[in-house]
Amino acid sequence: MPEALKAIRETTASFVEEHLPLELVRAIDAEDRYPSEPLAALVAEGYMGINIDPAYGGWGGNILDAMALYEEISRRLPVLAWVVGNICLYGGEIIGKSGSEAQRRTYLPRLARGEIKFGFALTEPDSGSDAASLKTRAERDGDGYRIYGRKMFITGAGVSDYVLTMARTSEDRYRGITAFIVDTRAVGYSARELQKLGYRGSNTCAVSYEGVRVGPEHILGGPEGIGHGWEHMVRLLNQERLTLAACAVGIGRAVLEDAIEHVRRRFPGGAPQGVQHRVAEMATELEAARSLAYAAARLEADGLPCGREASMAKYFATDTGKRLAVQGMDLLGGEGAESGADMQRHLRNVLVLTIGGGTSEIQKNIIARQIGL
Ligand SMILES: Cc1cc2nc3c(=O)[nH]c(=O)nc-3n(C[C@H](O)[C@H](O)[C@H](O)COP(=O)(O)OP(=O)(O)OC[C@H]3O[C@@H](n4cnc5c(N)ncnc54)[C@H](O)[C@@H]3O)c2cc1C
Repeated sequence: MPEALKAIRETTASFVEEHLPLELVRAIDAEDRYPSEPLAALVAEGYMGINIDPAYGGWGGNILDAMALYEEISRRLPVLAWVVGNICLYGGEIIGKSGSEAQRRTYLPRLARGEIKFGFALTEPDSGSDAASLKTRAERDGDGYRIYGRKMFITGAGVSDYVLTMARTSEDRYRGITAFIVDTRAVGYSARELQKLGYRGSNTCAVSYEGVRVGPEHILGGPEGIGHGWEHMVRLLNQERLTLAACAVGIGRAVLEDAIEHVRRRFPGGAPQGVQHRVAEMATELEAARSLAYAAARLEADGLPCGREASMAKYFATDTGKRLAVQGMDLLGGEGAESGADMQRHLRNVLVLTIGGGTSEIQKNIIARQIGL
């Protein structure tokens, strides 16, 4: 493990112990509350610059560094990793990779300092997995555009300063999509928070655009960015999948730790072999998921193709997390069924992870294509 990654893992683990006590984690989940205080603590430590180029005030970390951060945080407060990952990917990463120089100078230093938050709006009420069939449209208005349409399940849409919005600027399936940096204070933008099973507190919203005006400076990549929104997004897909794989590994660790703690307590004289085997299988599956995720991330960090591996990592790690959490519930017996059991929260969170960022079926479609089917 490189020294930088080791340091980030260790400092994040200390951060978790200091700033994310279990009582806070339980309260955020129970109250469905945006994790403002822990996010402010992360900002104060400079973490929001993790993936931003030092030229714009960031740390210049790669996907391996970011995954260590997300994994460690997800072990305790998954919604915080989700919120931070969303801002880092759809703020820092996409603007760093696809923004114009003026956009990089405008947004990246403020993102690195944690002064602004970004969200990302692709999914719509009638288009999720088949994202390119989106209908939200941007109509020409002088030197800019006006956006009309609706988006669904948009993380942070009610608390972000900007929401990167994918809208149709022509009928071409892919080349007709443009990414706009929408200021959420603009007239015609509104967000309504949705109640969810897991990742409670993520401020996931239904969003409405009623003629939201965007100037040429809000087209991602500048005026030449028209029709390149899909291409900009595709550049981020591996990182998004790897981010979610790391989140699943973090939740899997929490599940395993809680299961071990319960089994030790329940069977003080030593657990029956059948029980031990079930926990041993969980530990093995988690290790396999972790190895796959970081092997794929190593390829991405080295600039090598890894579409197949990133999809495998996302599918396998989130599915493993789900199996582990179900097994964890079984192992807890009646205690697992009691309202408020931590294992229930792990299960509710991991169930959502197999959906966001492309469902398990969509990952398997990609893997099947890549292996020649
Ligand atoms: C908590 C949360 C946060 C989210 N945050 C964001 C966000 O910030 N921004 C954003 O844009 N989106 C976000 N999403 C949306 C997410 O990306 C979509 O929910 C996801 O892509 C699935 O789309 P869908 O819900 O429309 O399901 P559908 O596409 O309707 O899928 C329903 C089922 O059909 C299966 N299916 C669909 N098509 C195929 C196929 N071709 N082959 C095999 N099976 C198929 C799916 O696997 C799934 O099991 C979020 C979702 C959640 C739950």
